[in-house]
Amino acid sequence: MPPAAARLAGLGTTIFTEMTALAVRTGAINLGQGFPDTDGPSAVIEAAVNALRGGENQYAPLPGVPALREAIFAHQRDWYGLEPEDVLVTFGATEAIASAVMGLCDPGDEVIVFEPSYDSYTACVAFAGATPRFVTMRPPDFALDPDAMRAAIEGGRGRVKAVLVNTPHNPTGRVFTRTELETIADACIEHDLICITDEVYEHLVFDGEHIPPATLPGMAERSLTISSVGKSFSVTGWKIGWCSGPAALVAATRTVKQFLTFAGGTPLQHAAAAALRLPREEVDTLRDDLRAKRDQLCDGLAAAGLRPLVPAGTYFINADVGTDATQWCATLPERCGIVAIPTSVFYDDKDAAPTLVRFAFCKRPEVIAEAAGRLAGLSA
Ligand code: PMP
Ligand code: GLN
Repeated sequence: MPPAAARLAGLGTTIFTEMTALAVRTGAINLGQGFPDTDGPSAVIEAAVNALRGGENQYAPLPGVPALREAIFAHQRDWYGLEPEDVLVTFGATEAIASAVMGLCDPGDEVIVFEPSYDSYTACVAFAGATPRFVTMRPPDFALDPDAMRAAIEGGRGRVKAVLVNTPHNPTGRVFTRTELETIADACIEHDLICITDEVYEHLVFDGEHIPPATLPGMAERSLTISSVGKSFSVTGWKIGWCSGPAALVAATRTVKQFLTFAGGTPLQHAAAAALRLPREEVDTLRDDLRAKRDQLCDGLAAAGLRPLVPAGTYFINADVGTDATQWCATLPERCGIVAIPTSVFYDDKDAAPTLVRFAFCKRPEVIAEAAGRLAGLSA
């Protein structure tokens, strides 16, 4: 294998690809990879159909189609009072994260990553030739440890360039508190760090409030805020994302993005603009539906004798299965026809949460009921 491919192969197949393949192979209920089993709002789907039929089928401008760019500016202003200098549309949040890290970090730089973390973060840091410095958040509350964060930054001896924040947080389902974000902000300002913030679950908050780091004093000028349409509007396959923030940070991201995919998804960009302009009540309805699913699966897990850690946001519940979670998940399809993910895969420190399993609850109530029944059968 050529050296670069060998290095990347060391990162392995994504856990989501693996788990969905396992679910398909075994016919199990897939509570592994997080994607809804229903479509997003019909007005959004219609907007995509109309754009397809309306001749919006050629390359988009590199920064994104004007209708979506304007909708993103309006969204940031109306929801959070933010006035970013620039906006860039990307192929999902994933491409924004990759382009930002590669555009903003040089080989030898270090990046603070709060673990557990979404799998693409460490891969993208590796693509940039940079090194992650992990700050571990531990169950049951996964609170940010300010001392651990300061030690990680200081341990970098000036090499730490950026902090990658994710709130609401995958896989823990936590929504960072204002105090935690202020701690991160203080460190960013003191050490002159860039804050790359992944907010794809911004509208899936059941308890508490989503606070974009860019809204904190001194942070708008050093934060690149990333989100996408997939989670908020149940269209994960569309892969329309964006970043916004200071012109220099967006420009660095755009420089990389233009050579990764240039610009595309034109009809879906138009539909994403329609999604962002939906009345707030529609966003609230989607969130309330999901809250009910969270509660349903939490109840089901508890009834099955597992100990769910009730998440404040996202698609995911972590539950303590009281035994080695990797083993437990490996045999789960054959034992009860369910696929779920051991939370340790999201950690560099494999001993931090050895008995936790991540379950996705973005499924129809009847699917959750069936899954809960199967899990209850395990302990029977
Ligand atoms: N960040 C986090 C934390 C995620 O869970 C996901 C999952 N899809 C992404 C980014 C990727 O978003 P997108 O599908 O828009 O690329
Ligand atoms: N964000 C989803 C999850 O954490 C999956 C994304 C992916 O498949 N890469 O389950």
